[in-house]
Amino acid sequence: MDIGSILLGIALLVIVAVYVGRPFLRARATQRETMTEREGLAAQKAALLEQIRTLDFEHETGKMPDAEHRQQRTRLLNEAATIMKQLDDLAPVPARNGSPARIEADVEAAIAAIRAWNRDNTRAREHGNGRFCTQCGKPRDAGNKFCAHCGFRFA
Ligand SMILES: [Zn+2]
Repeated sequence: MDIGSILLGIALLVIVAVYVGRPFLRARATQRETMTEREGLAAQKAALLEQIRTLDFEHETGKMPDAEHRQQRTRLLNEAATIMKQLDDLAPVPARNGSPARIEADVEAAIAAIRAWNRDNTRAREHGNGRFCTQCGKPRDAGNKFCAHCGFRFA
């Protein structure tokens, strides 16, 4: 796992955190009577997303077998779906920057991106550290400091 992958992961997590928090902030400003319920659901949802993130990280770092990861992830996603349904069933909050559905889609997209990133890392590991030169795109040998094809110096 290189620095770029780590930064990408952190950036995605920030996106998720912002989007998870935003409906709650809007709810506080506009819908005081449903704030407590919405706040509770939003907190549950954030906690589930955090658990999914931790799960993915443990899987990605090889601490968790595929089967267990898949099973636990399915369970967490189902719980998250239930929470999101309950949030939808609350009185709608007027949206300034997009509808709640739009925000859910963005969060799901961020999770999908993290999942794809994990998948790519797993694939790279399975192919014996088979990364590619960022300069010319040719496969690089794991131990080499320079690209055998274009001479690019690896970080
Ligand atoms: Zn190269």
